[in-house]
Amino acid sequence: MKLKAFVNNRKKLQWVTWLGLPVVVIGGWFYPLLGFLLIGCMAGAVGIAAYKGRAWCDWMCPRGSFYDLFLDKISGKREIPKVFRSAWLRIIVICILFTVIGVQIYFAWPDPKGMGQAFVMVLTITTSIGILLGLAIHPRIWCHICPMGTIAGYMSRDKYPLIIDDKCISCKACEKHCPMQLAPYIDRDNGKFGDTDCIKCGTCVVACPVKVLSLGPVEKRVEAGVKPAPASRKDRVRKAAA
Ligand code: SF4
Ligand code: SF4
Repeated sequence: MKLKAFVNNRKKLQWVTWLGLPVVVIGGWFYPLLGFLLIGCMAGAVGIAAYKGRAWCDWMCPRGSFYDLFLDKISGKREIPKVFRSAWLRIIVICILFTVIGVQIYFAWPDPKGMGQAFVMVLTITTSIGILLGLAIHPRIWCHICPMGTIAGYMSRDKYPLIIDDKCISCKACEKHCPMQLAPYIDRDNGKFGDTDCIKCGTCVVACPVKVLSLGPVEKRVEAGVKPAPASRKDRVRKAAA
C-alpha cells in the first residue's frame, strides 16, 4: 500500500474516534455521567496492551486521534525534549493524576454525578495541557507522558514487536513519518525496536523504502505465509557461535 493511502485510511478511523473527546470534555460539563466513559478508554488501553502493545493509542484513543488530526498542521513540530520520555516524569504524572481522581471520588462518594465530574475535569485539564504542549512542541507530546499510555507501554514490552532487519540503509524515513517521533532504525542491530512508546501504527513499515520493517508476532506472520524479516545481525552471530 502506498504511504498516502495508508495515512488516509488511518485518518478515516481517527475521524470517527476523535468524536469521543468532545462528547466527554464538552458534554460532560452538562451531563457529568459521561465522565465514566473515561473508564472505558482506560480499560481499552490496558486491555489491548495485553496482546498488541500501545495499539489503542494509534487510532482508537479519541484524544490521540484528536491530536493527530487537529494539531498536526499547526504544531511547532519541534524535537520532543528528553524529559518527556523519562521514567521519573511519567511516574510523577501517574501519581498526580490518580491521586487527583482518587481524592475527587472520595469527596464525591456516593454521588455518581460528582464522581463523573471528577473524570470530566481530569480529562479537560490534561487535554488542555496536551493541546498547549502540542502547539508549542509536537502534536503527540502528551502521549509520551499519558498515564494510560505509559502503563500500557510498560505492560507490553515484547508484545507485537516492530521487527527491523540490518539491511536498513539509515535513510530515516521511518523517523520522519512516525507520529510519535520515534526512530526505529536505531535498533537495527538488535533486530527489534524496543521502544515502549511505539503505538504500532505501522506508518514506518509502509514508509520504509527498502521494506526492512514488519510489525506483529513473528509466529503469526509465518502462519499467514508472510515472509518473516530476516534474522538480525545479532541473531546470526549468536547462531554462528552456537
Ligand atoms: S515506530 Fe513505527 S509503528 Fe511505532 S509509532 Fe512510530 S511509525 Fe508507528
Ligand atoms: S525507513 Fe527503513 S531503511 Fe530508512 S532508516 Fe527507517 S528502517 Fe532504515
